[in-house]
Amino acid sequence: MIQQNDFKRQWEFVESAALEAMRRVGASGWYILGKEVEQFESALARIWGVPHAVGVGNGMDALEIGLRCLGLRPHEKVVTTPLSAFATTLAIFRAGGVPVFVDVDDLGRIDLRQCRTVFAQDRSIRFFLPVYLYGFPLDLVELQNLKTESNLLLVEDCAQAIGASYGEAKVGTIGQVAGVSFYPTKNLGALGDGGALLTSDAQIAEKAKALRNYGQASLYFHDDVGLNSRLDEIQAALLSDALLPMLERWTKRRRQTAQRYCESIRNQHIRLPIPEKEMKPVWHLFPIFVPESSRENLREYLKAVGIQTGVHYPRTIPEQAAVKKHGSFEVLFDGSNARRISNCELSLPIHPFLQDDEVTAVIEACNSWVP
Ligand SMILES: *Cc1c(COP(=O)(O)O)cnc(C)c1O
Repeated sequence: MIQQNDFKRQWEFVESAALEAMRRVGASGWYILGKEVEQFESALARIWGVPHAVGVGNGMDALEIGLRCLGLRPHEKVVTTPLSAFATTLAIFRAGGVPVFVDVDDLGRIDLRQCRTVFAQDRSIRFFLPVYLYGFPLDLVELQNLKTESNLLLVEDCAQAIGASYGEAKVGTIGQVAGVSFYPTKNLGALGDGGALLTSDAQIAEKAKALRNYGQASLYFHDDVGLNSRLDEIQAALLSDALLPMLERWTKRRRQTAQRYCESIRNQHIRLPIPEKEMKPVWHLFPIFVPESSRENLREYLKAVGIQTGVHYPRTIPEQAAVKKHGSFEVLFDGSNARRISNCELSLPIHPFLQDDEVTAVIEACNSWVP
Protein backbone atom coordinates (compact mmCIF):
# COMPACT_ATOMS: atom_id res chain seq x y z
CA MET A 1 0.00 0.00 0.00
CA ILE A 2 1.24 3.49 -0.88
CA GLN A 3 0.29 5.29 2.32
CA GLN A 4 -0.68 8.87 3.14
CA ASN A 5 2.16 8.90 5.68
CA ASP A 6 4.92 6.37 6.23
CA PHE A 7 6.31 6.67 9.73
CA LYS A 8 8.18 3.38 9.56
CA ARG A 9 10.25 4.64 6.65
CA GLN A 10 10.80 7.91 8.52
CA TRP A 11 12.09 6.01 11.53
CA GLU A 12 14.79 4.38 9.39
CA PHE A 13 16.11 7.86 8.60
CA VAL A 14 15.99 9.22 12.12
CA GLU A 15 16.64 6.21 14.33
CA SER A 16 20.27 6.74 15.30
CA ALA A 17 19.95 10.48 16.00
CA ALA A 18 16.67 9.89 17.85
CA LEU A 19 18.09 7.18 20.11
CA GLU A 20 21.07 9.36 20.92
CA ALA A 21 18.76 12.29 21.78
CA MET A 22 16.63 10.06 24.02
CA ARG A 23 19.70 8.75 25.81
CA ARG A 24 20.89 12.30 26.45
CA VAL A 25 17.57 13.45 27.90
CA GLY A 26 17.14 10.31 29.98
CA ALA A 27 20.62 10.64 31.44
CA SER A 28 20.18 14.36 32.14
CA GLY A 29 17.51 13.70 34.78
CA TRP A 30 15.61 16.84 33.61
CA TYR A 31 12.42 16.19 31.65
CA ILE A 32 10.27 19.34 31.60
CA LEU A 33 11.23 22.89 30.48
CA GLY A 34 14.99 22.64 30.47
CA LYS A 35 17.81 23.29 28.07
CA GLU A 36 16.51 20.97 25.33
CA VAL A 37 13.38 23.08 24.92
CA GLU A 38 15.43 26.28 25.03
CA GLN A 39 17.85 25.01 22.41
CA PHE A 40 15.08 23.84 20.13
CA GLU A 41 13.26 27.17 20.50
CA SER A 42 16.45 29.00 19.46
CA ALA A 43 17.03 26.69 16.50
CA LEU A 44 13.44 27.02 15.29
CA ALA A 45 13.45 30.81 15.66
CA ARG A 46 16.74 30.99 13.75
CA ILE A 47 15.64 28.91 10.76
CA TRP A 48 12.27 30.72 10.65
CA GLY A 49 13.93 34.12 10.87
CA VAL A 50 11.77 35.26 13.79
CA PRO A 51 13.29 36.44 17.10
CA HIS A 52 11.33 34.23 19.53
CA ALA A 53 9.87 30.73 19.55
CA VAL A 54 8.02 29.27 22.54
CA GLY A 55 7.53 25.50 22.67
CA VAL A 56 4.08 24.36 23.76
CA GLY A 57 2.11 21.13 24.04
CA ASN A 58 0.51 21.19 20.57
CA GLY A 59 -0.50 23.42 17.69
CA MET A 60 -3.97 24.12 18.98
CA ASP A 61 -2.61 25.48 22.26
CA ALA A 62 -0.13 27.64 20.34
CA LEU A 63 -3.10 29.36 18.66
CA GLU A 64 -5.10 29.70 21.89
CA ILE A 65 -2.10 31.09 23.76
CA GLY A 66 -1.39 33.43 20.84
CA LEU A 67 -4.93 34.84 20.93
CA ARG A 68 -4.75 35.27 24.70
CA CYS A 69 -1.34 36.98 24.54
CA LEU A 70 -2.84 39.51 22.12
CA GLY A 71 -5.61 40.33 24.60
CA LEU A 72 -8.66 38.69 23.02
CA ARG A 73 -11.67 39.75 25.07
CA PRO A 74 -14.52 37.39 26.05
CA HIS A 75 -16.98 37.02 23.12
CA GLU A 76 -14.75 39.01 20.80
CA LYS A 77 -14.93 38.18 17.09
CA VAL A 78 -12.11 36.41 15.27
CA VAL A 79 -12.27 36.19 11.47
CA THR A 80 -11.22 32.75 10.27
CA THR A 81 -11.81 30.01 7.70
CA PRO A 82 -14.58 27.38 7.56
CA LEU A 83 -12.19 24.87 5.95
CA SER A 84 -9.38 23.74 8.23
CA ALA A 85 -8.46 21.25 10.91
CA PHE A 86 -11.08 21.63 13.63
CA ALA A 87 -8.34 22.73 16.06
CA THR A 88 -8.23 26.18 14.43
CA THR A 89 -11.75 27.02 15.57
CA LEU A 90 -11.39 25.11 18.82
CA ALA A 91 -8.50 27.41 19.75
CA ILE A 92 -10.78 30.42 19.21
CA PHE A 93 -13.52 28.90 21.40
CA ARG A 94 -11.05 27.99 24.11
CA ALA A 95 -9.66 31.52 24.14
CA GLY A 96 -13.23 32.81 24.61
CA GLY A 97 -13.68 34.23 21.12
CA VAL A 98 -16.44 34.03 18.50
CA PRO A 99 -15.31 32.65 15.13
CA VAL A 100 -16.55 34.61 12.11
CA PHE A 101 -16.27 32.38 9.05
CA VAL A 102 -15.67 33.84 5.61
CA ASP A 103 -15.53 31.61 2.53
CA VAL A 104 -12.52 30.10 0.74
CA ASP A 105 -11.04 30.34 -2.76
CA ASP A 106 -10.63 27.56 -5.33
CA LEU A 107 -7.50 26.22 -3.60
CA GLY A 108 -9.34 26.01 -0.27
CA ARG A 109 -7.58 29.04 1.21
CA ILE A 110 -9.47 31.73 3.11
CA ASP A 111 -10.61 34.36 0.61
CA LEU A 112 -8.68 37.55 1.36
CA ARG A 113 -10.96 39.67 -0.86
CA GLN A 114 -13.92 38.74 1.30
CA CYS A 115 -11.85 39.41 4.41
CA ARG A 116 -11.08 42.89 3.10
CA THR A 117 -14.82 43.55 2.74
CA VAL A 118 -15.52 42.26 6.26
CA PHE A 119 -12.83 44.40 7.89
CA ALA A 120 -13.98 47.46 5.93
CA GLN A 121 -17.63 46.98 6.93
CA ASP A 122 -17.04 46.28 10.62
CA ARG A 123 -14.21 48.42 11.94
CA SER A 124 -14.66 46.96 15.44
CA ILE A 125 -13.19 43.61 14.36
CA ARG A 126 -9.60 43.37 15.61
CA PHE A 127 -8.69 39.69 15.29
CA PHE A 128 -7.78 37.62 12.24
CA LEU A 129 -6.72 33.95 12.25
CA PRO A 130 -5.93 32.81 8.69
CA VAL A 131 -4.75 29.26 7.89
CA TYR A 132 -2.21 28.19 5.28
CA LEU A 133 -4.23 25.18 4.29
CA TYR A 134 -2.50 22.20 2.64
CA GLY A 135 0.81 24.13 2.92
CA PHE A 136 -0.28 26.88 0.49
CA PRO A 137 0.75 30.42 1.42
CA LEU A 138 -1.78 33.22 1.09
CA ASP A 139 -0.90 36.44 -0.74
CA LEU A 140 1.30 37.79 2.05
CA VAL A 141 1.55 41.24 0.48
CA GLU A 142 -2.21 41.57 0.69
CA LEU A 143 -2.21 40.07 4.19
CA GLN A 144 0.31 42.66 5.34
CA ASN A 145 -1.79 45.42 3.74
CA LEU A 146 -4.93 44.20 5.48
CA LYS A 147 -3.14 44.06 8.80
CA THR A 148 -1.81 47.59 8.46
CA GLU A 149 -4.94 49.19 7.01
CA SER A 150 -7.35 47.62 9.49
CA ASN A 151 -5.00 47.58 12.45
CA LEU A 152 -5.41 43.86 12.92
CA LEU A 153 -4.18 41.52 15.59
CA LEU A 154 -3.07 38.61 13.47
CA VAL A 155 -2.41 35.00 14.51
CA GLU A 156 -1.18 32.91 11.57
CA ASP A 157 -2.00 29.19 11.64
CA CYS A 158 1.16 27.69 10.13
CA ALA A 159 0.43 24.13 11.29
CA GLN A 160 0.48 22.83 7.70
CA ALA A 161 2.89 25.33 6.22
CA ILE A 162 6.27 25.41 7.96
CA GLY A 163 8.73 26.85 5.43
CA ALA A 164 6.15 28.11 2.92
CA SER A 165 6.65 31.55 1.39
CA TYR A 166 5.03 34.06 -0.94
CA GLY A 167 7.41 36.21 -2.98
CA GLU A 168 10.11 37.23 -0.53
CA ALA A 169 7.97 36.79 2.59
CA LYS A 170 7.71 33.71 4.75
CA VAL A 171 4.48 32.58 6.36
CA GLY A 172 4.51 33.27 10.09
CA THR A 173 6.35 36.58 9.81
CA ILE A 174 3.42 38.89 9.09
CA GLY A 175 1.30 38.50 12.23
CA GLN A 176 2.10 39.44 15.81
CA VAL A 177 1.99 35.69 16.46
CA ALA A 178 2.22 32.48 14.46
CA GLY A 179 1.42 28.97 15.62
CA VAL A 180 2.90 25.72 14.35
CA SER A 181 2.21 22.06 15.15
CA PHE A 182 4.59 19.11 15.47
CA TYR A 183 1.82 16.52 15.31
CA PRO A 184 3.47 13.47 13.67
CA THR A 185 1.78 13.93 10.27
CA LYS A 186 2.91 17.56 9.93
CA ASN A 187 5.91 18.48 7.78
CA LEU A 188 8.01 18.80 10.94
CA GLY A 189 6.46 16.02 13.01
CA ALA A 190 7.64 14.95 16.46
CA LEU A 191 7.22 11.40 17.81
CA GLY A 192 4.20 12.61 19.75
CA ASP A 193 2.45 15.91 20.35
CA GLY A 194 4.14 19.29 20.22
CA GLY A 195 3.78 22.82 18.96
CA ALA A 196 5.30 26.27 19.07
CA LEU A 197 4.35 29.89 18.97
CA LEU A 198 6.50 32.36 17.04
CA THR A 199 6.70 36.09 17.61
CA SER A 200 9.04 39.02 17.19
CA ASP A 201 7.70 40.63 20.39
CA ALA A 202 9.70 39.76 23.54
CA GLN A 203 6.76 40.61 25.81
CA ILE A 204 4.44 38.27 23.95
CA ALA A 205 7.07 35.52 24.20
CA GLU A 206 7.32 36.06 27.97
CA LYS A 207 3.58 36.00 28.38
CA ALA A 208 3.32 32.81 26.31
CA LYS A 209 5.97 31.17 28.49
CA ALA A 210 3.90 31.98 31.56
CA LEU A 211 0.60 30.86 30.01
CA ARG A 212 1.98 27.47 28.91
CA ASN A 213 3.02 26.83 32.51
CA TYR A 214 -0.14 27.48 34.64
CA GLY A 215 0.14 31.24 34.11
CA GLN A 216 3.12 31.18 36.41
CA ALA A 217 5.07 34.46 36.32
CA SER A 218 7.70 33.25 38.80
CA LEU A 219 7.90 30.05 40.83
CA TYR A 220 4.50 29.51 42.52
CA PHE A 221 3.24 33.01 41.67
CA HIS A 222 0.38 32.97 39.15
CA ASP A 223 -0.67 36.16 37.34
CA ASP A 224 -3.05 34.58 34.83
CA VAL A 225 -5.27 31.51 34.56
CA GLY A 226 -2.90 29.55 32.37
CA LEU A 227 -2.70 26.12 30.75
CA ASN A 228 -0.54 23.10 31.23
CA SER A 229 0.89 23.08 27.71
CA ARG A 230 4.61 22.45 27.73
CA LEU A 231 6.74 20.93 25.00
CA ASP A 232 8.53 17.91 26.51
CA GLU A 233 12.31 17.90 26.77
CA ILE A 234 12.33 14.58 24.95
CA GLN A 235 10.27 15.88 22.01
CA ALA A 236 12.43 19.01 21.86
CA ALA A 237 15.58 16.88 21.75
CA LEU A 238 14.14 14.64 19.03
CA LEU A 239 13.07 17.65 17.01
CA SER A 240 16.48 19.35 17.36
CA ASP A 241 18.65 16.36 16.58
CA ALA A 242 16.64 14.04 14.37
CA LEU A 243 13.84 15.97 12.64
CA LEU A 244 14.63 19.67 12.16
CA PRO A 245 17.91 18.84 10.36
CA MET A 246 15.88 16.86 7.79
CA LEU A 247 13.17 19.46 7.18
CA GLU A 248 14.79 21.20 4.22
CA ARG A 249 15.52 17.93 2.44
CA TRP A 250 12.06 16.56 3.13
CA THR A 251 10.40 19.76 1.92
CA LYS A 252 12.44 19.60 -1.27
CA ARG A 253 11.27 16.05 -1.83
CA ARG A 254 7.61 17.06 -1.33
CA ARG A 255 8.12 19.82 -3.90
CA GLN A 256 9.64 17.40 -6.42
CA THR A 257 6.69 15.06 -6.06
CA ALA A 258 4.21 17.93 -6.36
CA GLN A 259 5.94 19.09 -9.52
CA ARG A 260 5.71 15.61 -11.05
CA TYR A 261 2.02 15.40 -10.15
CA CYS A 262 1.33 18.86 -11.59
CA GLU A 263 3.20 18.09 -14.82
CA SER A 264 2.04 14.55 -15.40
CA ILE A 265 -1.46 14.05 -14.05
CA ARG A 266 -3.69 14.55 -17.07
CA ASN A 267 -7.33 13.64 -16.62
CA GLN A 268 -10.20 15.87 -17.70
CA HIS A 269 -12.12 14.92 -14.55
CA ILE A 270 -9.32 15.96 -12.17
CA ARG A 271 -8.54 19.59 -11.33
CA LEU A 272 -4.98 20.05 -10.07
CA PRO A 273 -3.90 22.55 -7.38
CA ILE A 274 -1.68 24.73 -9.58
CA PRO A 275 -0.10 27.48 -7.42
CA GLU A 276 0.18 31.10 -8.57
CA LYS A 277 3.74 31.99 -9.48
CA GLU A 278 4.65 33.91 -6.28
CA MET A 279 3.52 31.01 -4.10
CA LYS A 280 6.07 28.60 -2.72
CA PRO A 281 3.97 25.92 -1.02
CA VAL A 282 5.43 23.19 1.17
CA TRP A 283 2.85 20.61 0.07
CA HIS A 284 1.74 19.29 3.43
CA LEU A 285 -0.95 17.69 1.31
CA PHE A 286 -1.56 17.34 -2.43
CA PRO A 287 -5.27 18.05 -2.88
CA ILE A 288 -6.98 17.29 -6.16
CA PHE A 289 -10.55 18.26 -6.96
CA VAL A 290 -13.02 15.99 -8.73
CA PRO A 291 -16.78 16.16 -9.29
CA GLU A 292 -18.62 15.55 -6.01
CA SER A 293 -20.48 12.57 -7.41
CA SER A 294 -17.29 10.73 -8.33
CA ARG A 295 -14.96 11.31 -5.38
CA GLU A 296 -15.82 7.99 -3.73
CA ASN A 297 -15.40 6.28 -7.05
CA LEU A 298 -11.85 7.64 -7.47
CA ARG A 299 -11.05 6.85 -3.85
CA GLU A 300 -12.09 3.23 -4.31
CA TYR A 301 -10.31 3.00 -7.67
CA LEU A 302 -7.03 4.17 -6.14
CA LYS A 303 -7.46 1.94 -3.10
CA ALA A 304 -7.95 -1.06 -5.36
CA VAL A 305 -4.53 -0.43 -6.94
CA GLY A 306 -2.88 0.05 -3.55
CA ILE A 307 -2.99 3.84 -3.17
CA GLN A 308 -4.32 5.32 0.06
CA THR A 309 -5.93 8.76 -0.15
CA GLY A 310 -7.36 11.24 2.36
CA VAL A 311 -10.16 13.81 2.49
CA HIS A 312 -9.39 17.22 4.00
CA TYR A 313 -11.99 17.86 5.21
CA PRO A 314 -15.27 16.02 4.76
CA ARG A 315 -17.30 18.55 6.78
CA THR A 316 -16.80 22.29 7.08
CA ILE A 317 -16.28 23.71 10.56
CA PRO A 318 -19.57 25.66 10.89
CA GLU A 319 -21.43 22.44 10.01
CA GLN A 320 -19.79 20.44 12.81
CA ALA A 321 -22.16 19.35 15.58
CA ALA A 322 -19.83 20.78 18.25
CA VAL A 323 -19.98 24.23 16.67
CA LYS A 324 -23.77 24.16 16.36
CA LYS A 325 -24.07 23.10 20.01
CA HIS A 326 -21.66 25.80 21.10
CA GLY A 327 -23.80 28.24 19.16
CA SER A 328 -21.53 31.27 19.30
CA PHE A 329 -20.30 31.87 15.73
CA GLU A 330 -21.12 33.71 12.50
CA VAL A 331 -21.06 32.60 8.88
CA LEU A 332 -20.56 35.29 6.22
CA PHE A 333 -20.75 34.78 2.44
CA ASP A 334 -22.62 31.47 3.06
CA GLY A 335 -19.52 29.24 2.83
CA SER A 336 -20.66 27.50 -0.34
CA ASN A 337 -17.16 27.27 -1.79
CA ALA A 338 -15.90 25.63 1.41
CA ARG A 339 -18.74 23.10 1.24
CA ARG A 340 -18.01 22.41 -2.40
CA ILE A 341 -14.33 21.76 -1.66
CA SER A 342 -15.18 19.56 1.31
CA ASN A 343 -17.25 17.45 -1.10
CA CYS A 344 -14.80 17.27 -4.00
CA GLU A 345 -11.30 17.26 -2.47
CA LEU A 346 -9.12 14.14 -2.42
CA SER A 347 -5.53 14.12 -1.05
CA LEU A 348 -2.92 12.06 -2.92
CA PRO A 349 0.10 10.64 -1.06
CA ILE A 350 2.96 13.19 -0.94
CA HIS A 351 5.07 12.27 2.09
CA PRO A 352 8.85 12.64 1.63
CA PHE A 353 9.55 8.89 1.64
CA LEU A 354 7.63 8.11 -1.54
CA GLN A 355 9.89 6.51 -4.13
CA ASP A 356 9.97 7.59 -7.77
CA ASP A 357 8.18 4.43 -8.94
CA GLU A 358 5.46 5.00 -6.36
CA VAL A 359 4.91 8.54 -7.61
CA THR A 360 4.72 7.12 -11.13
CA ALA A 361 2.14 4.58 -9.96
CA VAL A 362 -0.04 7.35 -8.49
CA ILE A 363 0.21 9.37 -11.73
CA GLU A 364 -0.67 6.38 -13.91
CA ALA A 365 -3.60 5.43 -11.72
CA CYS A 366 -5.00 8.97 -11.85
CA ASN A 367 -4.52 9.15 -15.61
CA SER A 368 -6.26 5.85 -16.25
CA TRP A 369 -9.30 6.61 -14.08
CA VAL A 370 -12.64 6.96 -15.83
CA PRO A 371 -15.47 7.92 -13.46
C1 LIG B 1 -2.83 20.07 12.94
C2 LIG B 1 -3.44 21.40 12.86
C3 LIG B 1 -3.71 22.16 14.01
C4 LIG B 1 -3.59 21.62 15.39
O1 LIG B 1 -2.36 21.10 15.74
P1 LIG B 1 -2.28 20.03 16.93
O2 LIG B 1 -0.81 19.95 17.19
O3 LIG B 1 -2.87 18.76 16.44
O4 LIG B 1 -3.02 20.62 18.09
C5 LIG B 1 -4.22 23.43 13.84
N1 LIG B 1 -4.45 23.94 12.62
C6 LIG B 1 -4.20 23.24 11.50
C7 LIG B 1 -4.46 23.87 10.18
C8 LIG B 1 -3.70 21.94 11.58
O5 LIG B 1 -3.47 21.26 10.46
